[in-house]
Amino acid sequence: MPPILLAVDKTYPKGLMWFRRDLRLDDNAALHHALRACREVVCVFIFDRAILDSLPRADRRVEFIRESLVELAADLQSAGGGLVVKHAVAEDEIAPLARALGVQAVFANRDDDPAALARDAKVLGALANAGISFHTYKDQAIFERDEVLTQAGQPYSVFTPYKRAWLAKLDAFFLKPYPTRGHADALAPIPEAHRAEVPTLEDIGFEKTNLEALEIPTGTQGGAALFEDFFGRIERYDHARNYPALRGPSYLGVHLRFGTVSIRQLAGVAHQLSLQGDKGAATWLSELIWRDFYFQILAHHPRLTEGGESRSFRPEYDKIQWHHGKHADLLFDAWCQGQTGYPLIDAAMAQINQTGYMHNRLRMVVASFLCKDLGIDWRRGERYFAIHLNDFELSSNNGGWQWASSSGCDAQPYFRIFNPVTQSQRFDPDGKFIRRYLPELAKLPDAAIHAPWLAKPVELEAAGVVLGKTYPKPIVDHAEAREKTLQRYAVVRQPSVARA
Ligand SMILES: Cc1cc2nc3c(=O)[nH]c(=O)nc-3n(C[C@H](O)[C@H](O)[C@H](O)COP(=O)(O)OP(=O)(O)OC[C@H]3O[C@@H](n4cnc5c(N)ncnc54)[C@H](O)[C@@H]3O)c2cc1C
Repeated sequence: MPPILLAVDKTYPKGLMWFRRDLRLDDNAALHHALRACREVVCVFIFDRAILDSLPRADRRVEFIRESLVELAADLQSAGGGLVVKHAVAEDEIAPLARALGVQAVFANRDDDPAALARDAKVLGALANAGISFHTYKDQAIFERDEVLTQAGQPYSVFTPYKRAWLAKLDAFFLKPYPTRGHADALAPIPEAHRAEVPTLEDIGFEKTNLEALEIPTGTQGGAALFEDFFGRIERYDHARNYPALRGPSYLGVHLRFGTVSIRQLAGVAHQLSLQGDKGAATWLSELIWRDFYFQILAHHPRLTEGGESRSFRPEYDKIQWHHGKHADLLFDAWCQGQTGYPLIDAAMAQINQTGYMHNRLRMVVASFLCKDLGIDWRRGERYFAIHLNDFELSSNNGGWQWASSSGCDAQPYFRIFNPVTQSQRFDPDGKFIRRYLPELAKLPDAAIHAPWLAKPVELEAAGVVLGKTYPKPIVDHAEAREKTLQRYAVVRQPSVARA
């Protein structure tokens, strides 16, 4: 007797797999389900003009996606299929394409960013009008939406109990890969009318960036190589992750962002190692849990970023009067360009500007500096990061900025203000990171590099540093700024509300 499962499984003669932020063939939830549910599956990716049209013309993320698509298209082709790549407004394109291809169902992995949800709601409506079903799956998180709740059935807003509940719920089921190669006979080659190469950057109106020169590896091969490299040093992560000059973190953020690695694979390895007592792996797993934590925060509180405008998790923080006007704009520009006169801040901003990456500790320090030393609305920094970070993730970026500005769900208290000089002395003690990004300070002795304005004139002269000329004088006095910030935040000083 033929296996009943197959007959039941193949519900649809033809389906469409819509890749978005899941650019891999292996262990892909929606693709797995599409291949099982359909006799034939056409695959598509759309360079979405609704997102791309407002980006700067040279954007490392667009290049990362394009390079990763070339690999995905080749992988699909060698598995018997292919990838249709379009440059269009996705919400307008999917239903007509599905109709033209004659599919009965569209499959995609979920994306809970408010804009993506709005897009998908429109696509769902257009598909329904055409009698085509739309199936979405969890793929980018281990636990999403309502999967981890308090005992009272409420979403968590504090990380530690969330993490405890997350770990308690985790079992082999949630880490299991979604196999696709065993079902690849359902992959359809690219239909004649859509046969074309993956568009070049030029085809979609973009320019080449320094992604290649930076040797940022793309695609699933790039993700796998980075993970292999990190695997060899994961046990040191707990310590090394604090020092920006060290190769401490995994640099997998951009791969997690575009799905060129599987979160199940990463979390599975980290969990296994942590059960064996690897402290580095346990700490790294915690970071992956932060990612799920912020996903679910945004899913439960879409008002935080709805309409493209960010709002404080604690509404009383929206009463803060931020510094604005011409002087604030000058300070903001100095922060963006790494011209604040505080070497650690300036080196960190040089890192993001030159590479699209910034070390986690530095993200915390520069974010704190912007809102608590310069008194500038954290939302301006959030937007700057959104444009410049290769691994920009709406939920984690919003969460990180709200953490630093103290307006967030599980944020640092408003009176905790990082001192940019002591942070520098502690986490870049020999100034190695600063020297890498600020060659103009390279010759200063270790003790002077964290606060050049305190260096002896002979030290400055010997290092060829002329303050105000070759390197800026500090744009604010930290001690004074601290006092101003405490006054600015006085408006939020009220009994704290207990949170889950
Ligand atoms: C102000 C601010 C803004 C941030 N913006 C983003 C952002 O846009 N996108 C983003 O992915 N992360 C963001 N983070 C979190 C963190 O800084 C980055 O995830 C991390 O530096 C990425 O480098 P990595 O891949 O080498 O990290 P690793 O240290 O190797 O961590 C592995 C992965 O865990 C996740 N992760 C680590 N730390 C956090 C965290 N605190 N919150 C959520 N997820 C985390 C990321 O997916 C990361 O890739 C932000 C943090 C701050 C303070």
